[in-house]
Amino acid sequence: MTARSSEIDSILQRGADGGRISPEEALLLYTEAPFHALGEAADAVRRRRYPDGIVTYLIDRNINYTNVCVTACKFCAFYRAPKHAEGWSHPMEEILRRCAEAVELGATQVMLQGGHHPEYGVEYYEELFATVKAAYPQLAIHSIGPSEILHMAKVSGVSIEEAIVRIKAAGLDSIAGAGAEMLPDRPRTAIAPLKESGARWLEVMEQAHRLGVESTATMMMGTGETNAERIEHLRMIRDVQDRTGGFRAFIPWTYQPENNHLKGRTQATTLEYLRLIAVARLFFHNVAHLQASWLTTGKEAGQLSLHMGVDDLGSIMLEENVISSAGARHRSNLHELIWMIRSAGRIPAQRDTLYRHLAVHHTPADDPVDDRVVSHFSSIALPGGGARASLPLVDSR
Ligand code: SF4
Repeated sequence: MTARSSEIDSILQRGADGGRISPEEALLLYTEAPFHALGEAADAVRRRRYPDGIVTYLIDRNINYTNVCVTACKFCAFYRAPKHAEGWSHPMEEILRRCAEAVELGATQVMLQGGHHPEYGVEYYEELFATVKAAYPQLAIHSIGPSEILHMAKVSGVSIEEAIVRIKAAGLDSIAGAGAEMLPDRPRTAIAPLKESGARWLEVMEQAHRLGVESTATMMMGTGETNAERIEHLRMIRDVQDRTGGFRAFIPWTYQPENNHLKGRTQATTLEYLRLIAVARLFFHNVAHLQASWLTTGKEAGQLSLHMGVDDLGSIMLEENVISSAGARHRSNLHELIWMIRSAGRIPAQRDTLYRHLAVHHTPADDPVDDRVVSHFSSIALPGGGARASLPLVDSR
């Protein structure tokens, strides 16, 4: 055994035991650790954290209230500039109609996401959240991100703290990690020059955590960032987590290159994605959950990630328009998601936003029977406006 491989072994062992690894060590694991040893160490973390073998999923709907945005991120295929003929904003009745449909299909959460509309200040978001909460108190509002909070505070001329306190009072339950993209300056400026810096994004998250609003953290990989910048992204998030403990989960996904100004191709291979997942599980000793993205990486990679430390497959996503507009074409349904988990040797369970188990499917006899629960039940990003129940899916039963 060389000195290098024994160093890697000892870092893997420390990470598997729940110890803290440095960013330099994480980079060494990411670039040089043998794939299986890396996955095994990350999976040991999952097993220690979740010895019941349960892997969770969620039923939710992403509802986009507007595609009008002044921030013009180069990688974004969803937004339209103000006054563009294809710009739209949904009236509140339409948002409520979509919430009703989601509740009918068993959703427990809505992700309200949208562009930075030049007229949408704190007042708009207060009305949005209060209206949804009043009509559907059973839906958790896990929505928006630091970019939207900065934007609404600017439009309304109030402090970040006031914006957070007001939208929390109106009904926001937790903040989705949208807008993280790549946090280090160089790759962030290259793809989103008008967006706030990564440091500012994290400052807003930290402030929200201190005001009692927890969140998730995300990462979009594959736009040309270096390996070191990927690990730096993890470090920046972990430093905030050390202080607040407010990130419930880390969720990386891969850049989708269609219909945007950046184009190119995703520069994150499946192997790079899986390695990043495993390193994240080892590096984030202080973050409870790790979620894989089947929407961008595909179902096979999503299932493989269950052997690399992942304990959550995220949502069935009854509606998704943003990433789908940029080319993510993977679709699924509830039976298939459950099958992906069970055939990986795990026990599927539906969770809520707080990761509490709502239904544990110990055997196929425990599985839900609603065939209508499909991803992209409705989507402006897909021909025909969504898949409904007629999707060609693998037979998972
Ligand atoms: S990613 Fe968000 S902020 Fe950037 S252009 Fe798209 S909608 Fe606007």
